[in-house]
Amino acid sequence: LPALFEPARPILATIEEAGFEAYFVGGCVRDLILHDPIHDIDIATSAYPAEIKQLFHRTVDTGIEHGTVMILDHGTGYETTTFRTESGYQDYRRPDSVTFVRSLSEDLQRRDFTINALAMKEDGEIVDLFDGLGDLKRRVIKAVGDPNERFLEDALRMMRAVRFASKLDFEIDDATLAGIQRHAPLLAKIAVERVQVEFEKLLLGQNPTRGLRSLITTDLYRYCPGLAEQRDALCQMQDFNWQLTSAPAAWVLLAWQLKISASQAAMFFKSWKLSNQLIKQAQKALRFLRVLSNNQIDNQALFMVGKDVLTIAIEVAKTVGLAVDEVALQAQYQQLPIHDLHELAITGGDLIKNQIITSGPQMGKLLVQIQQAVIAGQLVNEPTSLLNFARQHCEL
Ligand code: ATP
Ligand code: MG
Repeated sequence: LPALFEPARPILATIEEAGFEAYFVGGCVRDLILHDPIHDIDIATSAYPAEIKQLFHRTVDTGIEHGTVMILDHGTGYETTTFRTESGYQDYRRPDSVTFVRSLSEDLQRRDFTINALAMKEDGEIVDLFDGLGDLKRRVIKAVGDPNERFLEDALRMMRAVRFASKLDFEIDDATLAGIQRHAPLLAKIAVERVQVEFEKLLLGQNPTRGLRSLITTDLYRYCPGLAEQRDALCQMQDFNWQLTSAPAAWVLLAWQLKISASQAAMFFKSWKLSNQLIKQAQKALRFLRVLSNNQIDNQALFMVGKDVLTIAIEVAKTVGLAVDEVALQAQYQQLPIHDLHELAITGGDLIKNQIITSGPQMGKLLVQIQQAVIAGQLVNEPTSLLNFARQHCEL
């Protein structure tokens, strides 16, 4: 077993020695078999949360009402979830009440896709009740049981199907795809935040155009924020395959392809409930891309975009085929006289102290003028020259 699993084996052994069952489950087993990188390990057990807490000294109740307890072991946390079924689905959303059960098979049955319904014992033996191994080999995403029922229970699963198609570069099984097509409108019932998580993973997958194609052919896109009227633009996005490394880059690429400007982007991204920080970054990147595509890059544009967003913007520029000399741009950025307003050799306080201006909106304007002159290389960034410039330009 890969290194990540080894330290978790004694935990499974401890649970089993106490007379319970314990398995590795879900994504980690799937990724192990695919030889994909494994990011977290999930353990499922017949033991109830209280029983787990009796067996281990250090635990954290990370989601105890859903049966999840984190076991802390040598500085690492292992999420352990009691076998459970989910019943009483209302509004096509995941139920908020769960029932703990003692059988693994019931727990595997409630999982979304066959490839996500695999369990593995501590010794490496795989439990495969729905031919998940066969679907991994065939590279197919297939609902556990009747797809229609499964999507009626939880409409988010439709979005998960298209994101796994992208993430793993798998095909969606015909009946599963038909189920999505039939129930796509139910996606509107799902909290945007949860749709956002899956859509972002789709954009960042191994084969995003594959996920995107299913999103379009099933009509799921029509129930995603701001995409209902964007069929043509989304179709055009399939013309090139991309591979992005960061969430901001993914959203910037999307907005750029949909021809959403920096100022329109705020509303679009808000409708996706993205964080204010990501929205700000994405807007800066979109402004920079616009300037780049107009061949108007200057020091001011580089200063405005900043170091981190420059990297994001360059990644997107390369992806969409804008002419961009990354090395030259990064070098030009490095050589900016200042990279941050705080690096200016004087402050507003200095302007007041030297009786050039009193505080107020005029002072802000003057500082911006000084800053622009420095960035443009017209003014040396040292106190005397800045104060002289300020005296010449102040309107008092
Ligand atoms: P990733 O590597 O992207 O985290 P994952 O398979 O681990 O993929 P998670 O969202 O972390 O995905 O979910 C863990 C497991 O829980 C899944 O493998 C699946 O068995 C189950 N699961 C998650 N969400 C659902 C859902 N909406 N319906 C049914 N089962 C689900
Ligand atoms: Mg996971």
